[in-house]
Amino acid sequence: METSKEMEMKNIPTRASQKFRNFPMVPRVVFGNGSFDQLGDILLPKRKNSDAPIILLVDDVFEDSELHARIPRIFSDQIIFISADEEPKTQQVDALVRQIKESFQEMPSGIVGIGGGTLLDLAKAVAILLNNSGSAADYQGWDLVHRESVYHVGIPTISGTGAEVSRTTVLLGPEKKLGINSDYTTFDQVILDPELTKGVPKEQWFYTGMDCFIHCIESLNGTYLNAFSQSYGEKALDLCKEVFLDTIAEEESRNKLMMASWHGGMSIAYSQVGVAHAMSYGLGYQLGIKHGLGNCLVFQYLEEFYPEGVVIFNEMRKKHHIELPKGVCAGLTENDLDTMISIAMGMEPLWENALGPNWKSVITPAKLKSIYRKI
Ligand code: NAD
Ligand code: ZN
Repeated sequence: METSKEMEMKNIPTRASQKFRNFPMVPRVVFGNGSFDQLGDILLPKRKNSDAPIILLVDDVFEDSELHARIPRIFSDQIIFISADEEPKTQQVDALVRQIKESFQEMPSGIVGIGGGTLLDLAKAVAILLNNSGSAADYQGWDLVHRESVYHVGIPTISGTGAEVSRTTVLLGPEKKLGINSDYTTFDQVILDPELTKGVPKEQWFYTGMDCFIHCIESLNGTYLNAFSQSYGEKALDLCKEVFLDTIAEEESRNKLMMASWHGGMSIAYSQVGVAHAMSYGLGYQLGIKHGLGNCLVFQYLEEFYPEGVVIFNEMRKKHHIELPKGVCAGLTENDLDTMISIAMGMEPLWENALGPNWKSVITPAKLKSIYRKI
């Protein structure tokens, strides 16, 4: 049995008094094509009064879409369209919270996030910060949130990150890119409507889908693996294989990838990610490369760590004619590379999960530099 010291080393969020993580799950979930139209009914009992609005944070890709017209709004509800071109920032969360507080006298009845990982994370963070004073940056870390968040609903429109089930919201802050990991981060309600993912461009579908595939590979090949994580990881991996290797109907593929994302997220909840994520953080920080693409760029060169996973990844890439950008790190100075390496190597729990407690005997700055240079 693990001691609490070991749990702490793994950076698995747990209070000192807790021997085992008491993990929050999404308490309510709706699944099915067209289930989005139930949103109005779901929100109704959550409304405190007509002055306490529902705030909907929506990916601006939907501004001129038929989905916009289907977003239910009554009383003073407000839709805020937000671009997902850049990943969420702590200052952005602070600005949104300020804007909402200035616009309404009453605290909102709820926050709804509609979009990919970017919008889902923003919705989670805004819901927390409405009820907790200070800046979002103050809460980056583990279990720093002490007051319940505002009721919040997540509605994914692209599948893969697992942000719809996770207890974190990943934010780029002034000093670090780190999640707000807390029991209050998890959504109160999720609506899984696979039809909403219909318009996702093919490259983006692949990159975000591979985030899920890589979550599975990193979780299933990690030293933190346990039956809880394995059960979800294996299911998610099977679904990813069906979606990306077999030839199945589009509707079935959308349904399956949405459930793969869910299971993949559940799998890493009780373990950790690994090498690709650690190195992708370096790319994200230095070059602004987004999570899904960054993971793919790194993962293709990780045959030493995940031999079978990389073979499957390449098969999937070929089947879908995905050309990954080349020469991404070509223009970087030694200094830039050193920054990326120190960010990647700082993700200790990820390395420890990937390679065990003696990971430092395998992973050296020179090793990481040789991988980054290939990208
Ligand atoms: P995203 O939200 O950044 O969106 C990617 C692109 O797809 C955007 O251009 C967006 O406008 C577009 N898009 C989304 N849905 C669409 C649709 N239905 N039709 C057309 N275009 C659509 O992508 P993502 O990969 O889902 O999310 C990445 C973010 O998720 C990163 O910020 C990452 O840090 C975060 N993340 C969070 C967790 C977590 O547990 N909280 C886990 C993994 C990743
Ligand atoms: Zn990921």
